[in-house]
Amino acid sequence: MRVVYSPLHLAHDITVQTFMGVQVPADEVADRAERIRDALIDDGGFGLVEPADHGDGPITAVHDPGLLAFLREAWPEAQRQRHPYPALVPETINSVHLTEGMDRRFLRESPKIEGRAGFYALDTSSPIVAGTYVAARAAVDVALTAVDLVLAGERAAYGLCRPPGHHAARSMYAGFCYFNNAAIAAQAIAEATGEHVSILDVDYHHGNGTEQIFWRRGDVLYVSLHAHPDRQYPFVLGWEDETGEGPGVGANLNIPLPAGVSDEGYLAALERGLDRIADEPGSVIVVSLGFDTYGLDPIGDFALTTGVYHEVGRRVAALGKRLLILQEGGYYLPALGENARAWLRGAEGRPHDPAPAPASGLGARGLRG
Ligand SMILES: [Zn+2]
Repeated sequence: MRVVYSPLHLAHDITVQTFMGVQVPADEVADRAERIRDALIDDGGFGLVEPADHGDGPITAVHDPGLLAFLREAWPEAQRQRHPYPALVPETINSVHLTEGMDRRFLRESPKIEGRAGFYALDTSSPIVAGTYVAARAAVDVALTAVDLVLAGERAAYGLCRPPGHHAARSMYAGFCYFNNAAIAAQAIAEATGEHVSILDVDYHHGNGTEQIFWRRGDVLYVSLHAHPDRQYPFVLGWEDETGEGPGVGANLNIPLPAGVSDEGYLAALERGLDRIADEPGSVIVVSLGFDTYGLDPIGDFALTTGVYHEVGRRVAALGKRLLILQEGGYYLPALGENARAWLRGAEGRPHDPAPAPASGLGARGLRG
């Protein structure tokens, strides 16, 4: 399988994040993508491909041009305004109650950069640094280059996207995500093929951004297995009764899961999702692939093991559609590469063949953060 990877993700050099008002070591660090890349190179069965520039068009096909302009201008503008901190984090966040009963046009984008950030942000855990825009754009090109491979006839392609994307909505960045790589890719596939597209989101979190972008679309099916919003980010979306509106009625399937879900429980839920996708027309599945479902993940509370990722990859591929697989979350660094390798080998029909575990259990580079 070909793996699209760009070293430009390293420019999004994040070391701390603001979590519940406190600065803590960042989870979404550059080493995540490097670990996966290294494991796939060591495997020997994957070929690395550099992404090609696809321009603004595919981004504004699903995102507000205002969000694109903000992300492009945010850091240079912060410098011009002599922003005093090493990362741009919004000072305010727009509450849904802010303009209740008022015309939406009175909700305005301030030129002041920490206010402008709050116009587009959902939370404080998605810092913007000097290289964020370059990296986020590269992640989109990684996804779109993987789309090109699949549309050219490859059975499957993997885009090693970083930063991830599924929390980014049409006009909003959130949850370590700036552009919604999977939504941009699904839209590009829908436009190129004229077919329906299915998105399977197996990240630990609900992909609120992907759900929102395709909420009223009947031609893009969104199926998500995730931690129940009763206890986990993004908290306000991800319930089972969110099934779409207008032409999108029935094209959104949320499967929220309890804490501690086992390999067996997860595979049972996966079958529900795959049954729905099997009924959908279209020849391509976009997979939002997260490993924060892993038992040792510092953010998640599922109990999945490396072996189940191989089985999930195998079962998704067994639907017989082409696969565009895009990286989302996953924050337990020592197992990240092996989990990705297992999933992708499963999707290729290769046996799991586990790599020998590092003697320390922490991997060659040790834990970071
Ligand atoms: Zn996640």
